Amino acid sequence: MELISERSYNLMREADTALKEIYEEIDRTAIINTGRVINAFRNNRVSESHFAASTGYGYDDPGRTVTEKVFAEVFGKEKALVRHSIVNGTQAITIGLFGLLRPGDTMLTITGRPYDTLEEVIGLNGKKGMGSLADFGISYRQCELGDDFSGMLDEKVKVVHIQRSRGYGQRPTLSPDEITKITRFVHANSKAYVMVDNCYGEFTCTEEPEADLIVGSLIKNPGGGIALTGGYLAGSAEAIELASYRLTSPGTGGEVGCTLGQTRNMLLGFWMAPHTVAQALKTAAFSAYIFEKAGFDVSPKYNEKRYDLIQTVTLHAPEKLEAFCRAIQHNSPIDSFVTPEPWDMPGYSDKVIMAAGTFTGGSTIELSADAPMRAPYTVFMQGGLTFESGKLSMLAALEAVLGQ
Ligand SMILES: *Cc1c(COP(=O)(O)O)cnc(C)c1O
Repeated sequence: MELISERSYNLMREADTALKEIYEEIDRTAIINTGRVINAFRNNRVSESHFAASTGYGYDDPGRTVTEKVFAEVFGKEKALVRHSIVNGTQAITIGLFGLLRPGDTMLTITGRPYDTLEEVIGLNGKKGMGSLADFGISYRQCELGDDFSGMLDEKVKVVHIQRSRGYGQRPTLSPDEITKITRFVHANSKAYVMVDNCYGEFTCTEEPEADLIVGSLIKNPGGGIALTGGYLAGSAEAIELASYRLTSPGTGGEVGCTLGQTRNMLLGFWMAPHTVAQALKTAAFSAYIFEKAGFDVSPKYNEKRYDLIQTVTLHAPEKLEAFCRAIQHNSPIDSFVTPEPWDMPGYSDKVIMAAGTFTGGSTIELSADAPMRAPYTVFMQGGLTFESGKLSMLAALEAVLGQ
């Protein structure tokens, strides 16, 4: 092969042999999930007419309605909101939180400090006047993953918030089973709703967690690399109705929202998503193997069960971190000629370096990597639309790192 060195080629063959059972398990998950998606498309009689673009109010748009039914069915929920007009995962989570919480209520997070972008939504940074939950008199409490929170479940707690993925932290990711157990415990012991930040988790397992709301982004797993933008919320009919009044306005709710022709991409992406997620999971397991073999600390390890797409590799040197990100960028389909540089990203204390050459701006179901420039120089990577491109990128990243 001309594209990669003989050393890389041999390493790839070795990894593929060692990972055979891991790949089989990922394939098994993908086929079960594909079956669930096929059933939902059939049960809801998806047809080409559902791709028609609506404009304006979009009352009773059939494509929007069917898309939301398909998502709800696959995710095992009563109802869903699936909208291209939700700009990102943060907005989807915000809609859920403001939909469920009222002044005087408490939000309780039981998985440690939430994803960075939620700090301003909750009002954790002390800034006033942006209309955060804190500005509306909603209190916030938090404990670490695994802490006994039963003593914190007083009658003021209206939402128990669970972040499934490790995000940019070092804690393990929660499995759907673990979340389901927590949901049942919360429901048995309080009147609180359980809301799950499901980002990066969808389709990595054969079911999604039980909860009043699960929420995510369409430029991650459930968009399958095809959806151009958007977010979803799925859950109980009651929780989705409350969220719908925040999505649009009280009273109007989910009955409006034109599709502007985005329904086809969302449905095609959702159809592809079990497969695309499998490509990303294999890319992650492959990279864990080759970097671990080369002596780096990785998490999860190649043979650990995965409940999200995120893989970390600890490189212990700034030059190695930069080399890694440059190699990912140079093997991307878009902007392969760009050289990523560490920069002062607003809201972060250290410089951050990012590699992402994606068809969809900022999409992280496509192969991407980022890292704060600080010891121990851990890179967070995720995604990969095809396993083949994922492998070539990771082999190039390893060569670049070893060349430093
Ligand atoms: C991606 C992500 C979000 C939302 O981020 P956006 O960039 O707004 O889509 C929230 N939580 C977790 C764990 C995430 O991975």
